[in-house]
This record gives sequence, structure tokens and C-alpha cells, in this order.
Amino acid sequence: METYLKISQVGKQFGQFTALNNISLDINKGEFICFLGPSGCGKTTLLRAIAGLDLASSGTIEQAGRDITYLPPEKRDFGIVFQSYALFPNLTVYENLSLGLRNQGKSVAETDSIVSQWLDTIALPTAGNKYPSQLSGGQQQRVALARALSLSPGLLLLDEPLSALDAKVRSHLREEIRRLQRKLGITTIMVTHDQEEALAMADRIVVMNHGCIEQVGTPQEIYQNPSSRFVAEFVGQMNFLPASIVSEHQMRIGESLLPLPAAQFQRGEQVELGLRPEDLHFLPAGEKSDSSVLVRIDDLEFQGTFMRADCQLQGAHQLPTIKVDVPIRETRNLGLSRGHYLQLHIADKHTHIYR
Ligand code: ATP
Repeated sequence: METYLKISQVGKQFGQFTALNNISLDINKGEFICFLGPSGCGKTTLLRAIAGLDLASSGTIEQAGRDITYLPPEKRDFGIVFQSYALFPNLTVYENLSLGLRNQGKSVAETDSIVSQWLDTIALPTAGNKYPSQLSGGQQQRVALARALSLSPGLLLLDEPLSALDAKVRSHLREEIRRLQRKLGITTIMVTHDQEEALAMADRIVVMNHGCIEQVGTPQEIYQNPSSRFVAEFVGQMNFLPASIVSEHQMRIGESLLPLPAAQFQRGEQVELGLRPEDLHFLPAGEKSDSSVLVRIDDLEFQGTFMRADCQLQGAHQLPTIKVDVPIRETRNLGLSRGHYLQLHIADKHTHIYR
């Protein structure tokens, strides 16, 4: 695969504060990348360094083989969409879209044709004469997207473009952005703190924390194999249970002994097990396995396609509640109800262990 954007050992200091710490990342041509992380982790700072809106303090950034680290934004080749739609309020939609095209030296006729094509593409064919304030938030964001893309940039940067919109509009626009991005094959980086959005949209997710990259991978890799407790906690739901290593083959959770699914731990070591609610399951009443523990069901919450059970490990009241998701069709046979005791099976292959 062809590397389009190469970020090498990029650092960013704001006075004494390190906002980016030695970031290296290669982004392929045509990829949709999400920078994901909690507030303050540095994702916007990294995006701004790529755009030239802030300059990196160290390291290099190359785009299509050209060193752009210290180029001003206007000399770079990108389009950007911000969270706040950032359209010119005193210009019509047509004028907002045509400004950049005219600056690029396009003729009036050419500009008209490109603008009307883009208005069709974003399903606002008659919005040209309207002012931004006459459009909904979702419509304004579509115009902002069309404005960025109409200039045919090599790179599309999206800074939380969906977070000001309500849930329904957001999910619709999510699909629209992804469809357009695929059709144009444009390399895209989107900043988000919304893990669901990143899982749904990205080809690869870059999980950031405290100015560092924690993990880079496809949504499946990040979800199924979170490389650190931070990633495990940030992406998806995860139960964390303290456990101690008893021997090469066994660990203790509360008062139960279970087989140890990995080899690299030492006797006496304290670890944390990471267990996704959907990877756990109850055994039918009266059954037990080598890898099951007795739990009491404290609460049940109907979630549509599954039931979420809050359980408490027996004999160990200080342990956190374990959340278990049971597909609805399985709930009947299990006779799930509050106060009941069941064996909870913890499968080796779904157990993540963190030091
Ligand atoms: P958010 O989702 O809240 O925007 P983020 O991950 O995008 O978070 P950044 O905006 O990249 O975070 O900021 C990273 C850190 O750098 C934060 O602690 C922020 O306070 C700090 N920071 C950002 N810009 C500046 C600045 N111009 N001067 C000083 N500190 C800054």
C-alpha cells in the first residue's frame, strides 16, 4: 500500500506542557483514519499540525512525499471541516461554495457547474440562494463538507464534524461522509472522542492518550484485541475484575480458581481481567464448568436485542459488579431473574489480562 501521509516523531510543546509526544504514523492513500481519545489527549493538536494551523515542535510530516512540516496552511493540500460549521454567515450557500473555486482561478461557468454538482451531491439542489442561518445544523455541515471537497484536495481533515448534531442527523451524515469518501477515494482523517463513531466509520483507528498513540488498528482489532487497559476501557464496554496468579495454570478471582489463559504471568502477580459483557454467558441451571464462577443476579435491564444482567460474584462482595449481555432468545431457557444464582462461564479466548 502506498503511504500518503508520513508522520515521524512529531512532538508539540505548549510552554512546559507536552501535547504530542513523539508521534509516528503512516497513513495510506485513500484510507479513512479516526483519531480517537478523551478530551485533551492531543488529537486536535495532531490534526492542526497536519494542517499547519499549529506547527509541530519537533519531527516531520510528509504528504505525498513532500515535507510539509513547516509550510503555512495555504501552501498545503487539504480541505477541513470543523465542529462549528464555519460557513460565512453573510454569504449565501452558493457564495460560500464558489469563493474557493474562484480563488483557485476557475471561470464563472466552471464554478457554477461545480457548485451545482456539489449541491446535488449533498441533496440540497435548491439551497444556493439561502443563507447558512436558514439551514439546519446537518445541512450546514453538508455545505461545509461540499465546500472542502469541491476544491479537490488531496487530504480531507474532519475535526469532530458530527458532534454538534443530534443523534439521527449524525448517523445519517456519518453514512453520507463515508459514502462520499469511498467514492472519491480521498485520504481522510477524522478527530472524534466518540468510540462508536470511530468503530463505525474508520478503516483504522488511532487511539490516543496523554499525547501518545496507545494503539493503531482496524475497528475489529481495536475492539477484539485492545492492547492496553486504557484502550479496553475507552472502546466498548468492558468489565474489569482483579485476579491473582496462583500458579502457571491457575488464577483466583474472589474465592474461585480458574484456568489461566496466558503463560507470561508469575505466581503471586496481581492482574486485572478484562471481560466484554457479550463474551460472558450463563450456564443452564445445574451445570458447571472448569471456567465458571457462581454469581448472583442483582439487576436486569431490557435492551431490545439483549438483556443486560448485573451480577455479583459470590463470597467476594468487594468485587465490582459484572455486566453480562444475554441475547433475548437465550433468556427464556435460563430463567433469568433477580436474586437467582447461576454459573457464569468465562471463556479463555475472550479473557484479556492486563498488568
Ligand atoms: P478535545 O476533544 O477536548 O478537543 P483533544 O484531544 O483534541 O481534546 P487538544 O485540543 O489536542 O486535545 O489538546 C491537547 C492538550 O494541549 C490539552 O491539554 C490542551 O489544553 C493543550 N493545548 C491545546 N492547545 C493549546 C494552546 N494553544 N496553548 C496551550 N495548551 C494547549
